[in-house]
Amino acid sequence: MISKDLEKALNGQIAAELFSANLYLSMSFYLEKEGFNGFSSWMKKQSSEEMNHAYLMAGYIIKRGGNATVNKVEAVKQTWKTPLEVFEDAYKHECQISKLIDKLLDQAIQEGDKATQDFLWQFVREQVEEEATASGIVDRIKRMGDKAIFNLDEQYGKRV
Ligand code: MG
Repeated sequence: MISKDLEKALNGQIAAELFSANLYLSMSFYLEKEGFNGFSSWMKKQSSEEMNHAYLMAGYIIKRGGNATVNKVEAVKQTWKTPLEVFEDAYKHECQISKLIDKLLDQAIQEGDKATQDFLWQFVREQVEEEATASGIVDRIKRMGDKAIFNLDEQYGKRV
């Protein structure tokens, strides 16, 4: 059985994952509008990955005898100036998510809840990948410059 405190904290993380899903969907809409269909499709996949994180967390809470809830999710940003700005924002956002996951894990350690610690480690590892992916795209856009942006767009559109 999960503690009420951890249940609350994990439900807070569900809201954070839903916020992430909405943020990436909003980025996807902006990118599509600007003609970057590859980046847009990449962002839609990113958005559904975040939704999956929320499902995983809900499933875990329920397995441990708690209640999974959908709480208020704040509105997300709707416009950017360039694709570079979009991916810079995505990178910053992932760094914030990493901090939230770290805090959750600290709480599980404090409570001595080994199952929740084990559950959360996959997200610690996931965040290493998420940060590296976003900062990798930022670096590539910066290095290749405006002329190559549509090549990158095409390349990222191939994400499966
Ligand atoms: Mg996530």
